[in-house]
Amino acid sequence: MAPVFSKIGIIGGGISGLAAAKQLSHHHPVVFEATDSLGGVWKHCSFKSTKLQTPRCDYEFSDYPWPERDNSSFPSYVEILEYLYSYATHFDLLKFVKFNSKVVEILFVGDRKTAYYGSLLPGQPIWEVAVQSEEGVQWYAFEFLVICTGKYGDVPKIPEFPHDKGPEIFKGKVLHTLDYCKLDDEGTTQLLKGKKVAVIGYKKSAIDLATECAEANQGPEGQTCTMVIRTLHWTVPHYWIWGLPFYLFYSTRSSQFLHERPNYGFLRNSLCHLLSPARQAVSKIIESYLAWKLPLDKYGLRPDHPFVEDYASCQMAILPENFFTEADKGNIAFKRASRWWFWEGGVEFEDNTKLEADVVILATGFDGKKKLKSIIPEPFRSLVEFPSGMMPLYRGTIHPLIPNMAFVGYIESVSNLHTAELRCIWLARLIDDQFKLPSVEKMLQQTTKEMEIMKRTTRFYKRSCISTFSINHSDEICEEMGWTSWRKKNWLAEAFSPYNSQDYQEE
Ligand SMILES: Cc1cc2nc3c(=O)[nH]c(=O)nc-3n(C[C@H](O)[C@H](O)[C@H](O)COP(=O)(O)OP(=O)(O)OC[C@H]3O[C@@H](n4cnc5c(N)ncnc54)[C@H](O)[C@@H]3O)c2cc1C
Repeated sequence: MAPVFSKIGIIGGGISGLAAAKQLSHHHPVVFEATDSLGGVWKHCSFKSTKLQTPRCDYEFSDYPWPERDNSSFPSYVEILEYLYSYATHFDLLKFVKFNSKVVEILFVGDRKTAYYGSLLPGQPIWEVAVQSEEGVQWYAFEFLVICTGKYGDVPKIPEFPHDKGPEIFKGKVLHTLDYCKLDDEGTTQLLKGKKVAVIGYKKSAIDLATECAEANQGPEGQTCTMVIRTLHWTVPHYWIWGLPFYLFYSTRSSQFLHERPNYGFLRNSLCHLLSPARQAVSKIIESYLAWKLPLDKYGLRPDHPFVEDYASCQMAILPENFFTEADKGNIAFKRASRWWFWEGGVEFEDNTKLEADVVILATGFDGKKKLKSIIPEPFRSLVEFPSGMMPLYRGTIHPLIPNMAFVGYIESVSNLHTAELRCIWLARLIDDQFKLPSVEKMLQQTTKEMEIMKRTTRFYKRSCISTFSINHSDEICEEMGWTSWRKKNWLAEAFSPYNSQDYQEE
């Protein structure tokens, strides 16, 4: 059967795919979503206790505010899904979405010689896409593709074990958080209650999971949940530091002035170098508060690296309220280990100590790059990430060496929804020829500068996060679209109030 031809295809129905569908709706895009629902990670990587970590007024579409946007509580994953469905319904986006439609292969059918310089909508197919659904495989053809398959979910990252020391020798149960997310309330209680559980990892999901485990193990028959930690990260109890709102430290123009950003001239770069002690001081102020507020030293949980490195890599986790209360009750314990493997009764560490366990849950994250590379064809697949492990995406969206394709949701910020939306607004104008992309060389120069800044700012740079120069990133996007970049009403607000989606309403 001949491929079904349309202008624009969007792969993924998470927040990035939704933002793309809304901004490109005038082109009647086709959105392929592998599962039966919208929302991506909020549907498939959420536990009972999963909440938004970003304040809700930062995680909203510019033209669709949360019903109670000033409510300072963090919405649960169920509320986030309701908000996303309500957005999709309000803007009539569901008509574009093909659910249970997984893209299994993409082919380049354009001419590579002309593709980089031609129109983004040339009137003929550039990409063909094989889509697996209940009816079988159907091919589609598109002039432009937007890839929104997400960095998390779908493909679990599983640690490697020495020979004969993997999960196969363990008598208990091993699962990844992705499997845990599929259990209902009764299933999680059955799995955790009265069981010795080892949670591997110390990022947001691991912390939420350990807390759920402790809650299921109250009372005399309860067992301890042990977190096995390779790398410590800073955790934050709330968005207040020594009585000041958190946004003052990193999310205002004045606070980001201290940080490096691309396209600084020599003078500004030198000043930035001189301001390095100020950057360190801000990080130290936050670290001192966290060490005072939380029992980090008591449990050996104070990271060796500065707070700013976690912030700059979008890894700052907000603690569930009773995490340390449960640790104080003995329901959560901590074990530092850089290497571990299985023995038949649990897990063993490099210091030859053993931990008995009935259940081992791997909160070891996801392999978003593998997911992406499984569908991008060669020779583009090898270009997707540079040797540094980072994706060179111009404006966080266009790969300079991959024609007629955009990527949304791979370069993160502290509010991924806000960033995804602004980038899609930019993309829609680009596709509509309201401005042109610079040359491939200029785009590569810009992405290289951004990647170098990330590398200098944090050892976790492979996570590709722009949080320390997010306002500058948005400024450059605005300027390219012909919008004013300084968007506040007066200079005081410009200097000291945070930027969020509402500041980027259409001009
Ligand atoms: C537990 C958790 C908590 C988080 N909390 C926050 C937070 O508080 N604030 C914040 O800013 N960010 C947070 N994030 C980051 C989060 O990933 C982003 O905010 C955002 O939801 C990502 O959306 P996305 O659309 O890019 O990707 P996803 O949500 O992963 O959506 C991708 C979609 O693509 C579909 N898909 C994948 N492959 C295919 C294919 N081959 N064919 C068709 N469809 C496909 C998937 O089924 C999925 O629906 C969190 C992430 C997790 C995992």
